[in-house]
Order: sequence, then C-alpha cells, then structure tokens
Amino acid sequence: MKIRFWGTRGSIPTPSTADFVTSRFGGNTTCVSIQAGERLIILDGGSGLRNLGLELMRGGPVSATFFFSHVHWDHIQGFPFFPPCFDPRSNLVLYGASHERETGVVGSVLENALRGQQRSLNFPIQVADMGAKMNFRELSPNAQVKLPLEGGTLLVKSGVLNHPGGCFGYRIEEQRDGRTCSFVFATDTEHYEQNNPALQTLAKDADVILYDAQYTVDEYEGRAGMPRTGWGHSTWFHGLREATAAGVKRLLLTHHDPMHDDWAIARIENDARKEGAKLNIEVDAAYEGLALEL
Ligand SMILES: [Zn+2]
Ligand SMILES: [Zn+2]
Repeated sequence: MKIRFWGTRGSIPTPSTADFVTSRFGGNTTCVSIQAGERLIILDGGSGLRNLGLELMRGGPVSATFFFSHVHWDHIQGFPFFPPCFDPRSNLVLYGASHERETGVVGSVLENALRGQQRSLNFPIQVADMGAKMNFRELSPNAQVKLPLEGGTLLVKSGVLNHPGGCFGYRIEEQRDGRTCSFVFATDTEHYEQNNPALQTLAKDADVILYDAQYTVDEYEGRAGMPRTGWGHSTWFHGLREATAAGVKRLLLTHHDPMHDDWAIARIENDARKEGAKLNIEVDAAYEGLALEL
C-alpha cells in the first residue's frame, strides 16, 4: 500500500508565517490517503483533503472509501473543498462511527455532521447539491470491513480511542499475493494509566502506527502552561509505550499542536527518536507530503 499524508496538524490549520514557520511539517489538519491496488482509502477530511482532491482531479473519475475517526471540525473541514465532491462521476463511500449516537443525533452522525457543516448559514453549497454519489455507512466499535482487491483483500478494523465525544482508530491491512502489510491510524486519543486495550488489538504487530503526539510530556502534565489532561490528546512518550507493547517497530507522530512551529516539532521528534532508538523503534514526526510504501 502507498500511504500519503496530506495533513498532520491538530485542532486548527496553522499556515506558516514569517515569525511562526510551519512549512516543514505542514499546517493542514488531518488527512491521509492509502492506495492499495485499485482501492483508494481516505482517512479523515481535515483541510489537507483539499490538496488530495486537487491531485485526484488530475486523473479520471474518483472512487474512494472514507473512514472518519470522528467529526470534530479539524477532521471534516476539508470536505466542502474536496473537488471530487462536485463531479457527478465521483463515487464516495463514507464510513463514520455509530457510537456517537449517544449524542442524541438520529441517523448517521457523520452524515449529520457533514450536511450540518454546509447548511446555508455556514456555507453557500449544500452537500445535496455537490453532485457526487455519496453513500454514508455506520461502523460499530471492533467492526471489520472487507474490501475485495484484485489478488487479495483490504481489511479495515475499528477500535475506540480515548477522546471527548468518542473517536475511532483504524487498522488498514492489505493481504495480497501472499503478502500482508498493515497501518494503524490512531489520532485524537489520550493515554491513561494503562495502554488502551482497543488500540493494542488494532496495533498488534502492525508495520506502522500513526499516533497522536500533540503535547510534550511537560505540557501534558502541566509543567509548561496548564495541564492538558482530559483534552483527548497524548504525547510521543505514550506513543512509544503503545508501540512497544504492540510490537510495532515504526511510530509516526501526528496531530501537531498549533502552538508548535517546525522548530518545536523537530525537538519533539528528536526527543522521541532518542527514546525510540533504545526500544528499537524508528520514530518520525509525520509531515505533509510524506509518502510511505509498505
Ligand atoms: Zn483533532
Ligand atoms: Zn478531536
């Protein structure tokens, strides 16, 4: 599978300025694409989704399957600017979590959130007028979606992360021509005393895990500003703890804090790499434009 990162920023898009440079790691919010054989998977629709859409429009008609972690704004705000939505030849299947029903929303939470985001007070074009064929589907926790591939299968598994309002992590596993590779998407999650059993199940022996490392340990624990406990995000230190327990040898850090410029993220990456080397885990801070092939 080919994995590309279109947005790795947390909370709000953070464009680079003269005094606050973010051009190395990028300022767009969460969006990751995975091409496996003929299948295109899109994980989250943060502002990075726009650039992915522009690139896709250079090819033929777009068929894609979206898996949304949750519907916080930084994970859906790119959707109104995804050019394939405006092409009637596009065929989009959109999976979102059903457990957010606790919020009192009737029907698909994802569908409600995307349509709500484009109600006329908020945006000039409604989802119903965008033109693409859209098929909304709900996923329960620990669900497994099997997508057939030529010569194999693509499996997408869901697991619940620790985040206000709920959030799904996903394991994307390609089984093709006698080979298996797997990528775990775990953003918008907070660590607790113990590792998250649902995340451990998703991440077991995966090739790569992308993990929410929004804060430094000092920030999280309140030694640099107010404590960030209960805010739903984690640190590189806890990413290494989850990766070690799950037997994952490559950790990518994401959901970079909007208060962290390139220099701050590079320092986090450096600290994490030093600890990772002791555990035999390769660590990088994910950046916009990063491409991996598994
Ligand atoms: Zn987020
Ligand atoms: Zn969130």
